[in-house]
Order: sequence, then C-alpha cells, then structure tokens
Amino acid sequence: MLRPVETPLSSAGRETVAASVPLRPAVSALPAYVPGARVAPGGRAWKLSSNENPYQPLPSVIAAITAAAGEINRYPDMYASELVEALAGHVGVPPEQVVVGNGSVAVLSHVLQAVVDAGDEVVYPWRSFEAYPIAVAVAGGTSVTVPLEPGTGRLDLAAMAAAVTPRTRVVLVCTPNNPTGPVVRADELSAFLAAVPSDVLVVVDEAYLEFVRDPAAPSGTEVLAAHANVVLLRTLSKAYGLAGLRVGYAVAEPRLAAGIRAVSTPFGVSHVAQAAALASLAQPAQTELMERVDALVAERTRVQDALREQGWELPESQANFVWFGLGQATLECAAQASAAGVLVRPFAGDGLRVSIGEPAANDAFLAVAKSWV
Ligand SMILES: *Cc1c(COP(=O)(O)O)cnc(C)c1O
Repeated sequence: MLRPVETPLSSAGRETVAASVPLRPAVSALPAYVPGARVAPGGRAWKLSSNENPYQPLPSVIAAITAAAGEINRYPDMYASELVEALAGHVGVPPEQVVVGNGSVAVLSHVLQAVVDAGDEVVYPWRSFEAYPIAVAVAGGTSVTVPLEPGTGRLDLAAMAAAVTPRTRVVLVCTPNNPTGPVVRADELSAFLAAVPSDVLVVVDEAYLEFVRDPAAPSGTEVLAAHANVVLLRTLSKAYGLAGLRVGYAVAEPRLAAGIRAVSTPFGVSHVAQAAALASLAQPAQTELMERVDALVAERTRVQDALREQGWELPESQANFVWFGLGQATLECAAQASAAGVLVRPFAGDGLRVSIGEPAANDAFLAVAKSWV
C-alpha cells in the first residue's frame, strides 16, 4: 500500500509525495496496536485502560532515577549485568538464564527472531495480548490462532496442542490471559507440555504473575526446570509500576538465553531504567511494592464481588483487570464509561477490559457498570 508522506521540502508545507519504496507485505498488513485511551491534556478521568499500576514510584525509586539521570552521557551497561544478576537472584536461576529487554514486548520479539524462520507457524490463543499478531508477523512467522474456551475466557490448551503441526516453531501461552484474566492450571500446562514436541518453543507470558493467587496456577520456574523448551516472559511494567521505563526479561535455559541475547537490541535497556529496576528489586522497596500488589489484589476481589452482586457473570481474573464479554454493546458501553470519566479498553464487537486501579477509580467504574446491567 502506498502511503502519502509529508515532504519537509515543500514550501507550502502541506504537499505530499507518494513513497515508492515497497514495505514488506507482512508489514503493510499489520494490525495496529491500539493503546489504551489517555486522559486529555488538562482533563480529569480515571485511567483504567492500560493495566497500569495506579501508584506513583516509591521515593527510593525516584531517587535512583534522579541519580542515574546525572550519568546519561555514558552508554548503559550493554548487558545490564547488575540488573541481570539481581533478576536472576530474584527468580532463583543463574544469571546466564536471564535476558533483559526494552519491555517484555521487545523481549518477545527477540525470542521470536531467535527461533522463527519465514513462514514458520506460531500458535497462540485468541483473544489474547494484541502485541502477539504484530510480533509474529514482524518476525516473518505465520499466526495460527486458537479460540478461547467459550464463555470462560480460559485458554483451551488441548486445542492449542492439537493446532501444533510440523511447521510450528513456537506456542505462546498467556497466563493470566490478557484481556480475559484466567490462569492456566498447573495440571493443564503439564499435560500440554507432554503433548507438544520438545523442539517446539513454549513461551509462557507471565506479565501478571505477581497478581496471581490461585493455588492451582503453575510455578513458571518449576515448569522451566522440567522443560528445556520453555521460556518465561516477565515484566516490571505492571506489578513493579515501571511501565514508563520499559524493562522486561526472559528466563530460559542457557543456550536459548544466549540466542535471545544475541538478537537483542544493543544497549536495549536504558541506564535510567536499569537503575529504577535495581532500586525496585532492592529491599525494602521490593516488599513495599508487593504490599501495593496485595492491595490491588484485594481491590480485585472487592470489584469482582461487587460486580457479581450487580448480576454480572465474569471470567475469574487473576490479573489486575476484569473482562466484560459485551459483544456488540462494547463500544457503546466504553463511550458511556468515558463520558462518566472512566477510561476503559474496548475490543470492538468482543468485549471490554477494565483495569483495577485505586479504590476511588474502582468505585467510579462500579457505578458505571451498575448502569449497564
Ligand atoms: C502488559 C503485558 C506485557 C508487558 O509489556 P511490557 O512491554 O513489558 O510493558 C506482556 N505481555 C502481556 C500479556 C501484557 O499484558
């Protein structure tokens, strides 16, 4: 597709020329990543549209960021060695098993680039994280989507295993699933890994790990220890409240980790981001941050209970958001929420995702949801 581009040379300033450089067909066909609605400048609204942490950074984290800002004339530590070591200690694996990147979305791209060749199939659930189709297409892969279990918002791991063919190189397992919220159970994941060939990479996206309280959920590190074809994907964007600084990481067996590291963007995690992540993993910040996560989990329980009280039947969310399968009413309900000062994330024709925020934001949303029942 030819796109008009503005030329800075035109004195009138508004003329355009058509670029004749062809884009890769996979790139022209990419679906747009729709970011969560933002509060208009000067406006006031509760932002429950991007699964962000509603709490501002801890003073100790801001102090680390401020100190790091005075050093940014230097390149960052290319492999973020200190941060990798801290993360490895946190996860309980050797540092050679950890690869960091500019948000876990970037790490996912690096994982795919390390293993996907042109036309290779990547199986993932749908609806799920909207970055998946984009990352797969950019890596040159072919998306094979498997519908969620009807009604429950749960991954259908049996159907996903059945979708694996000799062309399949990767399967993406999002748990809890964004945007519906349920986790896969440990027994389901074991059965799935037993059914999938050991040369197919299984990426377990644990972006919301810290919010999970279901005892039936798998332990990613135990799963990884038992299966060398598993990669765990984690982030400091959600529970740790560093979405604006972009720090994510993969945990994998050493040879795979080295491959992912090899295709990663050089200096991909900024010096300031490394400092903020290190400060967040240190004590007592780590404990303080996890207390905030506990508070958000308590709010999730309160919101889900209140919604059920209102008459809603919802998937069981283990993340920092809830899902309403509103079908054709989705956009209208999102517009009503927005008019009431609550920004939510609609997926047209399908449903609406609402992040768990601070109590006042959740109360504002509960009032809106009541009017929809
Ligand atoms: C938010 C999210 C991520 C994390 O993205 P970052 O790039 O680390 O900010 C990854 N996977 C899923 C499913 C998510 O919802």
